[in-house]
Amino acid sequence: MNKKTLTTCPYCGVGCNFYLVVDEKDQAIAVEASSGSPVSRGQLCIKGWNAYQFVNHAERLQTPLIRRNGKLVAASWDEALDLIANKLAFIREKYGNDALMFFSSAKVTNEENYLMMKLARAVFKTNNVDHCARLCHASTVAGLAATFGSGAMTNSIDCMENADCVLIIGSNTTEQHPLIGTRVIRAKQKGAKVIVVDNRTIRLAKLADLHIKFANGTDVAFLNGLMHIILSENLENKSFIKERTENFTELESVIKDYPPEKVAALCDISKEELINCARMYATAKSAAIIYSMGITQHIHGVDNVRSVANLAMLTGNLGKAGAGVNPLRGQNNVQGACDMGALPGVFSGYQGVTDAAIREKFARAWQVENLPEKSGHTVTTAMDAAGTELKAFYIMGENPVISDPDQHHVKEALSKLDFLVVQDIFLTSTAEFAHVVLPGVTYAEKDGTFTNTERRVQRIRKAVTPIGNAKADWEILGEVAKRFGYQNMQYQNPGEILAEIAAVTPSYAGINFMRLDQGGLQWPCPAADHPGTPILHIGKFTRGLGKFIPAQYLPPAELPDAEYPLLLSTGRCYFHYHTGTMTRRTRLLEREEHFPYVEINFADAIELNIRDREWVELETRRGKIKVMARVTKAIEKGVLFMPFHFAEAPANALTINARDAIAQIPEYKICAARIIKIIV
Ligand code: SF4
Repeated sequence: MNKKTLTTCPYCGVGCNFYLVVDEKDQAIAVEASSGSPVSRGQLCIKGWNAYQFVNHAERLQTPLIRRNGKLVAASWDEALDLIANKLAFIREKYGNDALMFFSSAKVTNEENYLMMKLARAVFKTNNVDHCARLCHASTVAGLAATFGSGAMTNSIDCMENADCVLIIGSNTTEQHPLIGTRVIRAKQKGAKVIVVDNRTIRLAKLADLHIKFANGTDVAFLNGLMHIILSENLENKSFIKERTENFTELESVIKDYPPEKVAALCDISKEELINCARMYATAKSAAIIYSMGITQHIHGVDNVRSVANLAMLTGNLGKAGAGVNPLRGQNNVQGACDMGALPGVFSGYQGVTDAAIREKFARAWQVENLPEKSGHTVTTAMDAAGTELKAFYIMGENPVISDPDQHHVKEALSKLDFLVVQDIFLTSTAEFAHVVLPGVTYAEKDGTFTNTERRVQRIRKAVTPIGNAKADWEILGEVAKRFGYQNMQYQNPGEILAEIAAVTPSYAGINFMRLDQGGLQWPCPAADHPGTPILHIGKFTRGLGKFIPAQYLPPAELPDAEYPLLLSTGRCYFHYHTGTMTRRTRLLEREEHFPYVEINFADAIELNIRDREWVELETRRGKIKVMARVTKAIEKGVLFMPFHFAEAPANALTINARDAIAQIPEYKICAARIIKIIV
């Protein structure tokens, strides 16, 4: 008889719940939605409905691999782990602790992220630990921590549906976070005003009351322009500004330089659009801002995020239902990976490594001495330092060859390493560079927790036996620690790890498996009887007063020119996820979106003599790839859009490795490109 196990979707940060159906042969064969889920309410998107197929895929890694004579060959766990121990010990001895870099993962559980940062800090005494939040929402973490004191989504998914106005900027919500997209549609049906600010005609733009297509990269100018109008029309929330915020005069002095005429010209929009948008947002009783990587993936990503925060504070749209600043986190557990301290400057719960008392607390809990105090490398700076300062990488569940900017630079970096360990479920493009590959397991083969975009910690549950000799990441990390003589990473089950997390992490203090079995809990949840916190900053910001941090508009790193006349923006598509390791091994998703493509406007296509579905060469100063042209009116003239999921034509062979100075997030959204017709 089939067995059903309630679990959480392994794809996007919405965190839908479903039952994984397993047959009598221990094979995952279907998914059934959970009507009791407060997040997904019995619905799923196409990725969720098909989230069982890759679990049993024939290409799953089933045994450790070791590189011998240039080839990866099967090895026993003891051989692989002994080799890792010998090599890492040798490199540490020769070059020091900070010659090692640890990549944690937004795909694995909270417990595994916690253990990866514990391994780096307690065993190897380095803060060189980071993960792919660096590539999607590092600017959110930095920007909102500075303005509000907490880098997380302020409100709940439910709030999207109950807002009077929803302003969506830099988020293709129905494609990237489909079940939040449905909440926006519900809000519209209930009478909310919907504003879409996006250069592309995304699906939500078709139902929006206002769709503004501003020039890519002018976000700060646009947001400052809105605030200028709000102030000049006395639409700001004066009591909120007075009682709840600081630094307002500094904001005023910057904003005065962004009158509508100037902003309209900078953003390539009309003055009237800007004014309408300002009035619609500022006069709503409760207005929610939704944003995603269209805001964050810029060299001025932190400025963009701070400007979004300024706008919400100016109108008092924080600390109440139906409002807030709502960054939609990309992967299933990118929020959790950040919460767990898989970041170079913080332990779990964003407790700083530079704080001696915090280091002392963790040292005591972990029974070690002298935890490192200097913040470590990020995943992006690590690629620059590979082969020089950094000699070995340990990469768990990440695929930087496909996900990081400027692929040539990444491949060169990985080739320069003395030693590379990759722990994953498939032989990824990154694993092909590894000296040792360790087979991890999928979400279906282990227990643990994920934290979704609204800070909701939810259970995943083991539904099938791990494939072949694969092991859960938490077990593997424990084995590595043991080989270095560290015994405090041996656990019977992930519930024990969560108990340790709760003991050292105030925002997770009241969270345990038993409570989560009754339903998810939104952090902060500081005590066992605390119900969780659906809305942050009620009455008081996490940092006390909200801080206005104004920004000046600055141009992107590389704009189109005579040689490369088009602007290339990259992102995701509905049917695939991240580097495609799971969705591209899912029949239905692969059938729907099989070829790498670039969207191009009709007018540009006519000028270049390119037909719809014709193969073309797409080129930037970093490289050239062959893709299919998708000719569409949904994109503006002069702009191209390409999803980055396709290893055979990687968009990141083209993207620029220019980064935000504070968050070190790359500018995936803008670089100069050209399209060349292939003459046959
Ligand atoms: Fe999974 Fe996200 Fe789709 Fe929900 S919306 S089913 S979490 S991919």
